[in-house]
Amino acid sequence: MTQITICWFRQDLRCDDNPALVAAVKDGAVLPIYILEDEDAGTEAIGAASRLWLHHSLASLNASLDGHLQFFAGKAEDILHQLASEYDVTAIHWNRCYEPWRIARDKRIKEHFVQLAHSHKASLLWEPWEPLKADGTPYKVFTPFYRRGCLGSPAPARPQAAPTQVSYAPPSKSSLSLDDLKLLPKIGWDKDVIAGWQAGEAGAQNRLDDFLDGAITHYRDGRNLPARTYVSRLSPHLHFGEISPARCWYQALDRYGFENDGCDVFLSELGWREFSYALLYFNGDLKTRPLNQKFEQFPWRQSDEDLAKWQQGQTGYPIVDAGMRELYQTGYMHNRVRMIVGSFLVKNLRLHWQHGEAWFWDCLFDADHASNAASWQWIAGCGADAAPYFRVFNPITQAEKFDPDGAYIKRYVPELKDLPAKYIGAPFMAPREVLMAANIRLGTDYPHPIVDARQSRLDALAAFATLKQIAS
Ligand code: FAD
Repeated sequence: MTQITICWFRQDLRCDDNPALVAAVKDGAVLPIYILEDEDAGTEAIGAASRLWLHHSLASLNASLDGHLQFFAGKAEDILHQLASEYDVTAIHWNRCYEPWRIARDKRIKEHFVQLAHSHKASLLWEPWEPLKADGTPYKVFTPFYRRGCLGSPAPARPQAAPTQVSYAPPSKSSLSLDDLKLLPKIGWDKDVIAGWQAGEAGAQNRLDDFLDGAITHYRDGRNLPARTYVSRLSPHLHFGEISPARCWYQALDRYGFENDGCDVFLSELGWREFSYALLYFNGDLKTRPLNQKFEQFPWRQSDEDLAKWQQGQTGYPIVDAGMRELYQTGYMHNRVRMIVGSFLVKNLRLHWQHGEAWFWDCLFDADHASNAASWQWIAGCGADAAPYFRVFNPITQAEKFDPDGAYIKRYVPELKDLPAKYIGAPFMAPREVLMAANIRLGTDYPHPIVDARQSRLDALAAFATLKQIAS
């Protein structure tokens, strides 16, 4: 039997700064594999947008590996056993992931392949168990987690270059083709959504280079303006591991340093990603259970109709509708708008944050178990270091402040394109003649608001007060 080393790619779809690949190459002939993990993931299988991205990302990785990537689908343990009967496997290398089901599964694999299995750190700057408080417990508040816990720990390892020479093992008899994974949607919505993105390692590096060449200098304040291109849009690339957080961290830090405002804030946003992972690591049920358990009693509303209007961007609040349509059309939503639509769902509509989490999971290219669950809990007020429940984002003033000329709204809600900026965040407040001049008939061309922002805020606060009574 041929002696081989398995390099198991998971959420590290890159050759650059990939410790598992570097270790596998040192061990001998490499069999690079990817396993579609739907069976192991069960209810946490990836959503439609992620599958689309994954298809393109795998195609790109396969090209970088000169077509040697072997595709499989099924239970990872079964597939590794099957490969162990086909080859003389001398080692199995992978980079660590932190979803609870993956941790449990990887532990079983390590117990079985005791001598062979080696895991490496590649997806985070600090392991979730590294930044701990002085008493050894995990941080619950971001700023001390990041400033004291992360920055006070040894600096992250510097990124390592991709191996220059890889000797590949012969292909497996049982490997599938990329198309066999059936990641692309059956109905053809995919081309429009992925347009404007370049999935894969080269696209990720281009995105980082572009951001560091310009936008980072505006990032500190500009990152709140959804119409502008002042954010990095690295999130899908980071999620799928097409670029390492260490590569992003050091490329920004070496060029600008902490003393540069934009750079400092950008690095701290990478810190939020670390914080989300630490929260998930210490709270495996982050996706299903509020960290503040009082919220288990919260009187959520049920309304499939309102949920559908939110999902479709038909709430009558243009900044919310623009965000939801951006998500559906591009697989991405600007962070400021994620907060606005999130607050609208859980506070103005008072629908459970898990509905939002699930919709984002299906629609986002960057859908990430840790960041999505932690952010939804944050916006709902039940998470760690969360936005307090009583802080309700007003969708009208948020639009005025962060999209003052309505450029973002007009991009995604074109039916409002002729409305003057003064009314763009609240067309229902525009006088009749202004609406007529802009060719808008409310209720026909654009919906009436599905809730009154002021009244629904008061209702949310009343619901919150009930919660306090129940809990005490
Ligand atoms: P930039 O502003 O350029 O930030 C750089 C990187 O830092 C991002 O790519 C991301 O990896 C990380 N980052 C930035 N902000 C956060 C944050 N608040 N939490 C965690 N990491 C952050 N992010 C995801 O990656 N996946 C998700 O599923 C996800 N769901 C979210 C759901 C809600 C309700 C909210 C409010 C936020 C969510 N975020 C999620 C966080 C954030 O919105 C995105 O990471 C960010 O908008 C991605 O755009 P960017 O790459 O241009 O970010």
